[in-house]
Amino acid sequence: MNLDGKVALVTGACKGIGLQIAHDLAKNGAMVYINGRDEEKVKKLVMTLCNENLRVRPFICDVSDYDSVKLAFRSYAKEGKKLDILVNNAGILDDALIGMVSLGQIEKTFRTNTYSVLFLSQYASRFMARNNKGSIINISSIIGTNGNEGQAVYGGSKAAIIGITKSLAKELAIKNIRVNAIAPGFIDTDMSRSVSDAVFQERINSIAMKRIGLPSEISNVVAFLASDFSSYVTGQVIGVDGGMLI
Ligand code: NDP
Repeated sequence: MNLDGKVALVTGACKGIGLQIAHDLAKNGAMVYINGRDEEKVKKLVMTLCNENLRVRPFICDVSDYDSVKLAFRSYAKEGKKLDILVNNAGILDDALIGMVSLGQIEKTFRTNTYSVLFLSQYASRFMARNNKGSIINISSIIGTNGNEGQAVYGGSKAAIIGITKSLAKELAIKNIRVNAIAPGFIDTDMSRSVSDAVFQERINSIAMKRIGLPSEISNVVAFLASDFSSYVTGQVIGVDGGMLI
Protein backbone atom coordinates (compact mmCIF):
# COMPACT_ATOMS: atom_id res chain seq x y z
CA MET A 1 0.00 0.00 0.00
CA ASN A 2 1.71 3.19 -1.11
CA LEU A 3 1.23 6.08 1.35
CA ASP A 4 4.20 8.16 0.16
CA GLY A 5 3.68 11.87 0.84
CA LYS A 6 0.75 11.33 3.22
CA VAL A 7 0.67 12.59 6.81
CA ALA A 8 -1.12 10.50 9.43
CA LEU A 9 -2.07 10.90 13.08
CA VAL A 10 -2.72 7.79 15.19
CA THR A 11 -4.18 8.14 18.70
CA GLY A 12 -3.14 5.77 21.49
CA ALA A 13 -0.13 4.75 19.42
CA CYS A 14 2.30 3.78 22.19
CA LYS A 15 1.29 0.13 22.34
CA GLY A 16 -1.08 -2.57 21.10
CA ILE A 17 -3.11 -2.04 17.95
CA GLY A 18 -2.26 1.69 17.77
CA LEU A 19 1.49 1.05 17.76
CA GLN A 20 1.12 -1.54 15.00
CA ILE A 21 -1.02 0.86 12.94
CA ALA A 22 1.49 3.71 13.36
CA HIS A 23 4.40 1.43 12.51
CA ASP A 24 2.74 0.01 9.40
CA LEU A 25 1.49 3.37 8.08
CA ALA A 26 5.06 4.69 8.41
CA LYS A 27 6.47 1.55 6.76
CA ASN A 28 4.12 2.20 3.83
CA GLY A 29 5.65 5.66 3.39
CA ALA A 30 3.51 7.99 5.49
CA MET A 31 4.87 10.51 7.98
CA VAL A 32 3.12 9.46 11.19
CA TYR A 33 2.30 11.51 14.27
CA ILE A 34 2.37 9.25 17.32
CA ASN A 35 -0.16 10.21 19.98
CA GLY A 36 0.12 9.41 23.65
CA ARG A 37 -0.44 11.31 26.89
CA ASP A 38 2.89 10.46 28.53
CA GLU A 39 5.44 12.80 26.92
CA GLU A 40 8.48 10.80 27.95
CA LYS A 41 7.02 7.52 26.66
CA VAL A 42 6.01 9.07 23.33
CA LYS A 43 9.40 10.71 22.74
CA LYS A 44 11.25 7.48 23.58
CA LEU A 45 9.08 5.55 21.13
CA VAL A 46 9.56 8.19 18.43
CA MET A 47 13.33 7.83 18.82
CA THR A 48 13.13 4.03 18.55
CA LEU A 49 11.01 4.20 15.39
CA CYS A 50 13.23 6.91 13.87
CA ASN A 51 16.15 4.52 14.38
CA GLU A 52 14.24 2.05 12.18
CA ASN A 53 14.26 4.78 9.52
CA LEU A 54 10.54 5.43 9.92
CA ARG A 55 9.28 9.02 9.66
CA VAL A 56 7.46 9.67 12.93
CA ARG A 57 6.82 12.65 15.18
CA PRO A 58 5.25 13.09 18.64
CA PHE A 59 1.69 14.32 19.14
CA ILE A 60 1.22 14.58 22.88
CA CYS A 61 -2.24 14.98 24.38
CA ASP A 62 -4.87 13.27 26.46
CA VAL A 63 -7.52 12.56 23.85
CA SER A 64 -10.28 12.54 26.46
CA ASP A 65 -9.55 16.20 27.33
CA TYR A 66 -10.80 18.81 24.85
CA ASP A 67 -8.31 21.50 25.95
CA SER A 68 -5.40 19.09 25.69
CA VAL A 69 -6.44 18.11 22.13
CA LYS A 70 -6.90 21.78 21.19
CA LEU A 71 -3.42 22.68 22.45
CA ALA A 72 -1.81 19.80 20.56
CA PHE A 73 -3.48 20.85 17.29
CA ARG A 74 -2.45 24.45 17.92
CA SER A 75 1.23 23.51 17.99
CA TYR A 76 0.67 21.15 15.05
CA ALA A 77 -0.72 24.09 13.07
CA LYS A 78 2.43 26.08 13.83
CA GLU A 79 4.45 23.40 12.04
CA GLY A 80 2.34 24.22 9.00
CA LYS A 81 1.57 20.58 8.39
CA LYS A 82 -1.23 19.09 6.32
CA LEU A 83 -3.12 16.04 7.53
CA ASP A 84 -4.33 13.21 5.29
CA ILE A 85 -5.15 10.37 7.68
CA LEU A 86 -6.58 10.28 11.21
CA VAL A 87 -6.88 6.98 13.08
CA ASN A 88 -8.99 7.27 16.23
CA ASN A 89 -7.66 4.23 18.04
CA ALA A 90 -7.15 5.22 21.71
CA GLY A 91 -9.54 3.40 23.99
CA ILE A 92 -10.08 1.87 27.40
CA LEU A 93 -11.99 -1.16 28.63
CA ASP A 94 -13.50 -1.20 32.12
CA ASP A 95 -16.16 -3.90 32.27
CA ALA A 96 -18.83 -4.10 34.96
CA LEU A 97 -22.38 -5.38 35.28
CA ILE A 98 -24.89 -2.56 35.02
CA GLY A 99 -25.79 -2.73 38.73
CA MET A 100 -22.17 -2.10 39.65
CA VAL A 101 -21.27 0.63 37.15
CA SER A 102 -20.24 3.99 38.63
CA LEU A 103 -20.81 7.42 37.12
CA GLY A 104 -17.02 7.88 37.06
CA GLN A 105 -16.61 4.73 34.94
CA ILE A 106 -19.26 5.88 32.48
CA GLU A 107 -17.76 9.34 32.13
CA LYS A 108 -14.17 8.13 31.75
CA THR A 109 -15.10 5.47 29.19
CA PHE A 110 -17.22 7.77 27.05
CA ARG A 111 -14.68 10.61 27.27
CA THR A 112 -11.82 8.35 26.19
CA ASN A 113 -13.57 6.13 23.64
CA THR A 114 -16.24 8.41 22.17
CA TYR A 115 -15.76 12.11 22.95
CA SER A 116 -12.18 11.77 21.72
CA VAL A 117 -13.41 10.73 18.28
CA LEU A 118 -15.48 13.94 18.07
CA PHE A 119 -12.67 16.14 19.44
CA LEU A 120 -10.02 14.77 17.07
CA SER A 121 -12.32 14.59 14.04
CA GLN A 122 -13.30 18.24 14.50
CA TYR A 123 -9.73 19.49 14.35
CA ALA A 124 -8.43 16.94 11.84
CA SER A 125 -11.25 17.56 9.36
CA ARG A 126 -10.35 21.27 9.28
CA PHE A 127 -6.82 20.39 8.15
CA MET A 128 -8.11 17.82 5.65
CA ALA A 129 -10.67 20.22 4.18
CA ARG A 130 -7.86 22.60 3.19
CA ASN A 131 -6.54 19.96 0.78
CA ASN A 132 -10.00 18.71 -0.13
CA LYS A 133 -8.98 15.17 0.79
CA GLY A 134 -8.72 12.92 3.83
CA SER A 135 -9.46 9.62 5.49
CA ILE A 136 -10.70 9.21 9.05
CA ILE A 137 -10.63 5.68 10.46
CA ASN A 138 -12.37 4.98 13.75
CA ILE A 139 -11.62 1.87 15.79
CA SER A 140 -14.95 0.62 17.15
CA SER A 141 -15.48 -2.96 18.36
CA ILE A 142 -17.58 -6.07 17.83
CA ILE A 143 -19.03 -5.18 21.25
CA GLY A 144 -20.28 -1.94 19.67
CA THR A 145 -22.02 -3.81 16.82
CA ASN A 146 -23.25 -6.88 18.75
CA GLY A 147 -23.19 -6.00 22.47
CA ASN A 148 -22.16 -8.31 25.31
CA GLU A 149 -23.11 -8.88 28.94
CA GLY A 150 -21.12 -6.80 31.40
CA GLN A 151 -20.13 -4.41 28.62
CA ALA A 152 -23.02 -1.93 28.41
CA VAL A 153 -20.73 1.05 28.98
CA TYR A 154 -17.91 -0.06 26.68
CA GLY A 155 -20.41 -1.35 24.07
CA GLY A 156 -22.34 1.92 24.20
CA SER A 157 -19.16 3.95 23.79
CA LYS A 158 -18.15 1.85 20.78
CA ALA A 159 -21.65 1.79 19.21
CA ALA A 160 -21.72 5.59 19.38
CA ILE A 161 -18.56 5.63 17.26
CA ILE A 162 -20.56 3.95 14.49
CA GLY A 163 -23.21 6.71 14.57
CA ILE A 164 -20.44 9.30 14.49
CA THR A 165 -18.75 7.52 11.57
CA LYS A 166 -21.89 7.32 9.45
CA SER A 167 -22.88 10.92 10.20
CA LEU A 168 -19.43 12.35 9.50
CA ALA A 169 -19.20 10.29 6.31
CA LYS A 170 -22.31 12.10 5.04
CA GLU A 171 -21.25 15.52 6.32
CA LEU A 172 -17.66 15.43 5.08
CA ALA A 173 -18.10 13.65 1.72
CA ILE A 174 -18.52 17.03 0.02
CA LYS A 175 -14.97 17.83 1.15
CA ASN A 176 -13.71 14.49 -0.17
CA ILE A 177 -13.04 13.27 3.35
CA ARG A 178 -13.92 9.60 3.81
CA VAL A 179 -14.91 8.29 7.25
CA ASN A 180 -15.00 4.58 8.07
CA ALA A 181 -14.92 2.35 11.13
CA ILE A 182 -13.30 -0.96 11.89
CA ALA A 183 -14.94 -3.33 14.38
CA PRO A 184 -12.20 -5.65 15.65
CA GLY A 185 -13.12 -8.93 17.36
CA PHE A 186 -10.58 -10.34 19.84
CA ILE A 187 -7.07 -9.04 19.15
CA ASP A 188 -3.87 -9.96 20.99
CA THR A 189 -2.93 -6.92 23.11
CA ASP A 190 -2.69 -5.98 26.81
CA MET A 191 -6.41 -5.13 26.65
CA SER A 192 -7.52 -8.61 25.53
CA ARG A 193 -5.02 -10.30 27.88
CA SER A 194 -6.55 -8.43 30.85
CA VAL A 195 -9.51 -10.87 31.02
CA SER A 196 -9.48 -14.07 33.14
CA ASP A 197 -8.21 -17.35 31.61
CA ALA A 198 -11.78 -18.70 31.53
CA VAL A 199 -13.13 -15.66 29.66
CA PHE A 200 -10.11 -15.73 27.32
CA GLN A 201 -10.85 -19.36 26.34
CA GLU A 202 -14.57 -18.62 26.01
CA ARG A 203 -13.76 -15.81 23.57
CA ILE A 204 -11.45 -18.06 21.50
CA ASN A 205 -14.18 -20.72 21.35
CA SER A 206 -16.59 -18.12 19.94
CA ILE A 207 -14.30 -17.36 16.98
CA ALA A 208 -14.90 -19.39 13.80
CA MET A 209 -11.17 -19.29 13.00
CA LYS A 210 -10.43 -20.53 16.55
CA ARG A 211 -7.60 -18.11 17.21
CA ILE A 212 -6.99 -14.62 18.52
CA GLY A 213 -6.37 -11.89 15.90
CA LEU A 214 -3.07 -10.08 15.45
CA PRO A 215 -2.69 -6.28 15.64
CA SER A 216 -1.25 -6.46 12.11
CA GLU A 217 -4.56 -7.91 10.90
CA ILE A 218 -6.21 -4.66 11.98
CA SER A 219 -3.42 -2.43 10.64
CA ASN A 220 -3.69 -4.07 7.20
CA VAL A 221 -7.31 -2.93 6.95
CA VAL A 222 -6.37 0.52 8.27
CA ALA A 223 -3.72 0.79 5.53
CA PHE A 224 -6.38 -0.08 2.91
CA LEU A 225 -8.81 2.54 4.27
CA ALA A 226 -6.00 5.12 4.48
CA SER A 227 -4.91 4.51 0.89
CA ASP A 228 -6.40 5.47 -2.44
CA PHE A 229 -7.36 1.80 -2.96
CA SER A 230 -10.46 2.64 -0.90
CA SER A 231 -11.21 5.93 -2.67
CA TYR A 232 -14.95 5.10 -3.07
CA VAL A 233 -15.43 3.58 0.42
CA THR A 234 -17.07 5.76 3.06
CA GLY A 235 -19.52 5.35 5.94
CA GLN A 236 -18.69 1.65 6.34
CA VAL A 237 -18.08 -0.51 9.39
CA ILE A 238 -15.66 -3.31 8.54
CA GLY A 239 -15.63 -6.28 10.92
CA VAL A 240 -12.18 -7.80 11.42
CA ASP A 241 -12.97 -10.66 13.79
CA GLY A 242 -12.11 -14.07 12.31
CA GLY A 243 -15.82 -14.91 12.23
CA MET A 244 -16.45 -14.22 15.92
CA LEU A 245 -19.98 -14.83 17.17
CA ILE A 246 -21.24 -12.78 20.11
P1 NDP B 1 -4.31 -1.17 24.64
O1 NDP B 1 -4.85 -1.05 26.02
O2 NDP B 1 -3.23 -2.15 24.37
O3 NDP B 1 -3.82 0.27 24.12
C1 NDP B 1 -4.67 1.40 24.24
C2 NDP B 1 -3.88 2.64 23.92
O4 NDP B 1 -4.73 3.77 24.07
C3 NDP B 1 -2.69 2.85 24.86
O5 NDP B 1 -1.58 3.30 24.12
C4 NDP B 1 -3.19 3.93 25.81
O6 NDP B 1 -2.17 4.74 26.35
C5 NDP B 1 -4.04 4.75 24.84
N1 NDP B 1 -4.93 5.65 25.58
C6 NDP B 1 -5.86 5.33 26.50
N2 NDP B 1 -6.44 6.43 26.98
C7 NDP B 1 -5.85 7.49 26.35
C8 NDP B 1 -6.01 8.89 26.43
N3 NDP B 1 -6.91 9.45 27.25
N4 NDP B 1 -5.25 9.68 25.63
C9 NDP B 1 -4.33 9.15 24.80
N5 NDP B 1 -4.13 7.81 24.69
C10 NDP B 1 -4.88 6.99 25.46
O7 NDP B 1 -5.58 -1.48 23.73
P2 NDP B 1 -5.70 -2.15 22.28
O8 NDP B 1 -4.51 -1.88 21.47
O9 NDP B 1 -6.15 -3.54 22.48
O10 NDP B 1 -6.96 -1.36 21.71
C11 NDP B 1 -6.87 -0.31 20.76
C12 NDP B 1 -8.29 0.04 20.32
O11 NDP B 1 -8.91 -1.11 19.75
C13 NDP B 1 -9.19 0.49 21.47
O12 NDP B 1 -10.03 1.54 21.04
C14 NDP B 1 -10.02 -0.75 21.77
O13 NDP B 1 -11.25 -0.44 22.36
C15 NDP B 1 -10.16 -1.34 20.37
N6 NDP B 1 -10.46 -2.76 20.37
C16 NDP B 1 -9.57 -3.67 20.88
C17 NDP B 1 -9.86 -5.02 20.87
C18 NDP B 1 -8.93 -6.06 21.40
O14 NDP B 1 -9.32 -7.26 21.42
N7 NDP B 1 -7.70 -5.72 21.79
C19 NDP B 1 -11.15 -5.51 20.32
C20 NDP B 1 -12.00 -4.47 19.82
C21 NDP B 1 -11.66 -3.15 19.83
P3 NDP B 1 -1.58 4.47 27.83
O15 NDP B 1 -0.52 3.43 27.63
O16 NDP B 1 -1.07 5.82 28.23
O17 NDP B 1 -2.71 3.99 28.69
